[in-house]
Amino acid sequence: MKARIWGCRGSLATPGPSTLRYGGNTMCLEVRSADGAIVIFDAGTGIRDLGRTLSTETVHEIDLVLTHLHLDHIEGLGFFALLFDPESRIRIHGPRPASGTLQEQIAAYLSPPYFPVPFERIEARIEFEELERENWEVKGLRISSAPVCHPGPTLAYRVAENGASLAFVPDNEPGLDKNSGLEIAGDVDLLLHDSQYTDEEYATRVGWGHASASDFTAYLKAAAPRRALMVHHDPTHADAKLERMLESARAASGHPELGLGHEGLEIEIA
Ligand SMILES: [Zn+2]
Ligand SMILES: [Zn+2]
Repeated sequence: MKARIWGCRGSLATPGPSTLRYGGNTMCLEVRSADGAIVIFDAGTGIRDLGRTLSTETVHEIDLVLTHLHLDHIEGLGFFALLFDPESRIRIHGPRPASGTLQEQIAAYLSPPYFPVPFERIEARIEFEELERENWEVKGLRISSAPVCHPGPTLAYRVAENGASLAFVPDNEPGLDKNSGLEIAGDVDLLLHDSQYTDEEYATRVGWGHASASDFTAYLKAAAPRRALMVHHDPTHADAKLERMLESARAASGHPELGLGHEGLEIEIA
């Protein structure tokens, strides 16, 4: 399977000269199976460019899997080209909300006053699937979900195909629960994990749902992935700052295959 990052900024899209190397679009990851099935994880602003690419490939069937409904993970959805293609069929999977349904919550966001077009007028055929702790399959990709430590219902996902595996854990606060999501993140070939804060920043942001540098390092040791990427970059962290955070994390963890997620990064997982 192949993965491509279309956005890995956390909290708020952050375009501009200081974020050119790692990108300013919020979270969106594309995963393709060996036989071409496409699963998209999160619909941050990165999904806009992905949608333009998919339109040129005449793709009509998509599974979109949401970790949670914080705006940085859904704010690109209204600008995803396939939404306005009457031939497309989109299955949106996401965590079961504390109240109401997933469909009601997405429809509320994709309607006035937050969005110009009422949800009923969106042309794609959309189905909703509410998840907690589940296992299912999309054309050869086996996907598992489990709750993680983050404000509001939030899931992490593991994708596996032919013995290769990837874990997507963009929002997680191991500082409050060091085992949060380890059943998903443990022993994978590639882990994408929250690494938003320095230890100094985390001291005033406990309970906001993200990892400090020290907690990320400890989590990495516990999960022991073959390769790991730091994602959910803080909007205030310029490229050079992210590179300093990577150096510290490499030194602290000793992990030989640790890097920074960046827009456009494509990884073959075998
Ligand atoms: Zn987020
Ligand atoms: Zn969040």
